[in-house]
Formats: sequence, structure tokens, C-alpha cells
Amino acid sequence: MTKLAIKGGNKLRNTPFPAYNTIGKEEEEAVLKVLRSGKLSSYLGTWHDDFFGGTQVQKLERAWEKFFKVKHAISVNSATSGLYAAVGAAGIGPGDEVIVSAYTMSASATAPLVYGAIPVFADIEEEYYCLDVNSIKSKITSKTKAIIVVDIFGQVYDINAINALAKKYNLTVIEDAAQAPGAMYKGNYAGTFGDMGIFSLNYHKHIHSGEGGIIVTNDDNLADKLRLIRNHAEAVLSARGIKNKDELINMIGFNYRMTEIEAAIAHEQLKKLPDLLTERIKNTEYLNTRLSQVPCLKSTPLRQESKHVFYVHVLKFDSNIAGIHRNTFIDAVKAELPKTLLRDESDVLLSYGYVKPLYLQPLYQYRIAFGKEGFPFNQSDVKYNEGLCPVTESMHNDILVTHEFMRPGMKKEDLDDVIKAFKKVWDNRHELT
Ligand SMILES: *Cc1c(COP(=O)(O)O)cnc(C)c1O
Repeated sequence: MTKLAIKGGNKLRNTPFPAYNTIGKEEEEAVLKVLRSGKLSSYLGTWHDDFFGGTQVQKLERAWEKFFKVKHAISVNSATSGLYAAVGAAGIGPGDEVIVSAYTMSASATAPLVYGAIPVFADIEEEYYCLDVNSIKSKITSKTKAIIVVDIFGQVYDINAINALAKKYNLTVIEDAAQAPGAMYKGNYAGTFGDMGIFSLNYHKHIHSGEGGIIVTNDDNLADKLRLIRNHAEAVLSARGIKNKDELINMIGFNYRMTEIEAAIAHEQLKKLPDLLTERIKNTEYLNTRLSQVPCLKSTPLRQESKHVFYVHVLKFDSNIAGIHRNTFIDAVKAELPKTLLRDESDVLLSYGYVKPLYLQPLYQYRIAFGKEGFPFNQSDVKYNEGLCPVTESMHNDILVTHEFMRPGMKKEDLDDVIKAFKKVWDNRHELT
């Protein structure tokens, strides 16, 4: 009889999976060209042609606009900076509330705090893990100014319902598409469904330049504000001049500028995006089809008329069917497989849920952001108690997240080993009770 590796049996596979690296000759040559030019950034923080950045930055932004069919693409040094800039450009400030998701990367919830506004957590949908429109509705007050929706895990948010709600209450929609470059709804790209959309180019994302981000918008006025916030707004406006004092709202500039090297890399990476997505989707579909033979696992349904790009691969785990705890199951699967050669992390990248519901972070529990008095939380009675978003809390305990099995470069034999590991644990689960 087979013995599970976690119980001292043989591992199903010892040979590491293929290493994952999307950086090749193209990026290498592009970087060398920039290095040899000596111009690693051309930005000037004043009203001048160079306010808009250098050749590579321009090339990337124009290519991004063309690819995603959007009027303005504004490069920044991270998606976090992009989210902050978007909140600033939306004119949000102290006293305002912004509805955010409890199940996302932390920056998509903290962005309002940077402008002294209050993040109000709404719950997620049980099937798709994106913000739930009914929960959003229940959180709207006279102070609500915006919603930060997230295309979580690579699938678009509930676009029609949430955009209609936002329109009714005159709320800005900021779409965090960091995990969804190339995801679509009815032939249009994720990132373009809100008033502003934000992409990430960090190392863990579908395509990357080490660090980086892009904000997209079709609104000229927002685009202007975003570029100002990116690059020393106050100094630029001083040189450019203002017509009325409202133009100064949130116009304390930052330095969110991307270097020419990162822009050159990102431009090459964007060309690779379609093929990388095709392979990622094919691999995930292969895994989902075969893992459906493991009765305690359920793959995430696709939203109607949409394309999911699987930043991570989420499976719902039914412990009643399995008769064991999710974490026990995960630990046993991990023990069957080799460690990932992707990064320094020496572990199989399969995790218990995604992130702890964000409002449980100390930031919200202790209500301390700026200064000793707890600004801006001390201006608000918005709650962050456990139980606030019950679906998020229960999903966090029910899902397992695979981070790398679907990545491009995995061969059929590699995927088959992943599937066999899950099946082996399922077939021998009695050893774990
Ligand atoms: C990665 C990520 C971010 C932040 O991206 P950075 O470029 O690292 O700042 C924001 N939101 C979501 C949903 C992300 O996955």
C-alpha cells in the first residue's frame, strides 16, 4: 500500500519543476541599450517636456495604451504608488470614506488612509472572491466617495452591478487590476472598467520589470492629476500656474517615477503577455479538469462572458467530503512535491487561503495610522471587528491557493505529477485522520 510522504513514505516527485523566468535576450538587449545611452531617467520635476519622462517611459506608455485600448497610460514605480495616486486624483480627503475589499493585497485597502480618508471594508462574493455588490450597498454612507474594486486572482469584478451602483451614488471607481493584466469582460480589458485602473509590474506578477506599475484612464483631467502626483505636483503647478485654487486639491507631489531601465524591460514584457497568458490559462484548465476527480476540491467558476488570467489558482476545499482539515490536506500534498525553484522561498507554493482578512491587521485593530492620536481613525466610528465580513472569513478557511503550478514552462508531465500528488493524498486520506 502507498504511504503518504508526510507519514514517512516516498515523495511522489523529487525532481524540481522547471524554473520560471520570463526575462530573456529581448529584455537584456533593451536594458543594455539604455545603459549604454547613460540616460537612466529623463524626468524633471517642473513644467517642461521632461515632466512626462524619457524615451522608454513614453514608449511603454504608448504601447500600453494601444494594447489595452485606453486613452492614457501613466507609468509609476509600483501599483501601490498607482493606487495612492488614484485616490489622490479622485480628490479624496479627510472625512471621506472609501469602500475596499477585505480580501486583497493590503495596499488596495490602505490607499485611502494616505489621504486621511477611512477604508470601509465590504465582503466578497462566495464564488468569485471579488467585492460583493450587496455588501458594498450596505456600506454606503453620505461620506462615501469611492470604491476600490479588485479583479482578484485574475478575474474581473462584478462590473455592471457595481458600476451602476457607483453611478447612482456618484462614486469614483478605482479598479485594482494588479492581478489581472489581460483579463477581459465582453472583449474589453480589466483595468479599463473603472474611472482609473491600476496594474502592477512587480516580480510576482504575470509580467514584470522588477518593480513598477501602470495607471490607466480615459479621463483627461484625472490623467493630468495622476501625472502631477507622480512627479512633484506642487513644483510643477508653481511653474505651470493655476486658474483656481481647487486645482491644488491633493497636489502635493510624490516621486512615483519609473526609470528608463524598468520601462524598457516592461515594454518587452508587454509583448510577451499574450503568449504567457495563453500558456497559463491552458495549464490551469488542464489542472482544473483533472483535479475535478478529487471530490473535495472545486475550481473557481468563470464569470459570464469573461476571461480569467489566473494570477493564482484557487480551489475550494470541502472538509466534510474529505473528512480532514484543509491544512492537513495541504501539508500532505506539499510533502509529495519538490520545492519551487522560482525564488529563494524554499517551499512548495501552495497556501492556506490567500491573506488574512485585512481588517484583522494590527493597523485596523489598534486604529493607528498617522501620529499618536490614531488619525484618521480617531475621526470615525467605522468598525473593524472580527466577523465584519463573514464570507471573507469563511472563504479564507475554505480555500487553498496554488501559486506556481500553472505557470508557463510547466510541461504536461509536470502538471500530471501535481495532479497525482493531489490524488495520492485524496486516496490515502485515512492515513491522516
Ligand atoms: C501586487 C498587488 C498590488 C501591489 O503591487 P506593487 O506593484 O507591488 O505595489 C496591489 N494590489 C494587488 C491586488 C496586488 O496583487
